[in-house]
Amino acid sequence: MVNQSTEHTVKANTVVRIAHSIEEALALKVQFPNSSRFISGGTLIQLEREQGNELPEQLISLERISSLFGIEETEGYVLIGAATPLNQCASVELLQTVIPTVASKAVRNRATLGGNLMYMCGDTIPALIALGATVSIVEENGERTVSVTDFLSLRVNEPIVTQIHIPKEKIESFFYQKVGFRKSFSKSQLTVASMISIDKQRVQSNVRLVFSDGERTAIRLPTTERVLGGQKLTKSVIQKVSESLNEELARIKTATTYQRMVTKNLFISELINRMEGSLE
Ligand SMILES: Cc1cc2nc3c(=O)[nH]c(=O)nc-3n(C[C@H](O)[C@H](O)[C@H](O)COP(=O)(O)OP(=O)(O)OC[C@H]3O[C@@H](n4cnc5c(N)ncnc54)[C@H](O)[C@@H]3O)c2cc1C
Repeated sequence: MVNQSTEHTVKANTVVRIAHSIEEALALKVQFPNSSRFISGGTLIQLEREQGNELPEQLISLERISSLFGIEETEGYVLIGAATPLNQCASVELLQTVIPTVASKAVRNRATLGGNLMYMCGDTIPALIALGATVSIVEENGERTVSVTDFLSLRVNEPIVTQIHIPKEKIESFFYQKVGFRKSFSKSQLTVASMISIDKQRVQSNVRLVFSDGERTAIRLPTTERVLGGQKLTKSVIQKVSESLNEELARIKTATTYQRMVTKNLFISELINRMEGSLE
């Protein structure tokens, strides 16, 4: 394969190689397996540099690969190119409560959705898990599409994230809340997200509850999801959810007492709001 990438030196020992296609980016990765890193918006890499981490010898820029940009809609999905800046992603209705919680507007002009996923503790991750999103990744041996949960647990060695697929759901079924300090960059203390569909008989289905500790834990709460699934939302169901959350959150070893308590309160308050709303 002819390598047509262009090169720019950013400091004595770092070369930025601008790939114009996914194939070219992959070829560069193969050429520099241990001394390179992909870069999109560069906001996280710049932050890491300010925190004292050295830049790698080679940065493989993805920002000229046109197929990685843009937002499309199909009948069932919203498809977002991985290099689409977060501010543009805010136009997706299901992400409208999520994107403004990530960094500042200036950072979001450059920061991308793919970069946020590869951060592994990005704030969009719990939301994407709750929304049932899938991610397309390309590696040397081909392309595949996996759920966000699988993406996190696979820890694939530096794939190129190409697209994020979000199933179209009713906006009122989705809930997202980040709890953190107001600083230019403070990691979230915790994030909760949920998706719960309610049919005409007010029976709940398609339940996904997600807890994130703001670090590398972003997980669903399957036991409590089963307590809600197939049930009408009543005071007694909410009581059972509360008990189940106590037990399920206690099993998450990385969660602090504060995180467990706030997570439970946020979910319960959302369920009470929904129950009261559905009775009106
Ligand atoms: C001031 C400041 C505040 C911030 N606040 C937040 C915050 O509140 N919440 C939050 O979640 N994050 C925050 N961040 C971190 C970061 O900006 C975001 O996570 C951002 O979305 C990263 O995207 P990027 O395109 O800039 O990534 P880059 O810096 O370009 O890359 C980040 C990582 O992802 C990899 N990568 C990027 N794109 C791809 C791709 N398409 N395929 C494969 N690998 C790729 C890179 O190799 C690198 O390892 C903040 C950063 C700053 C500087």
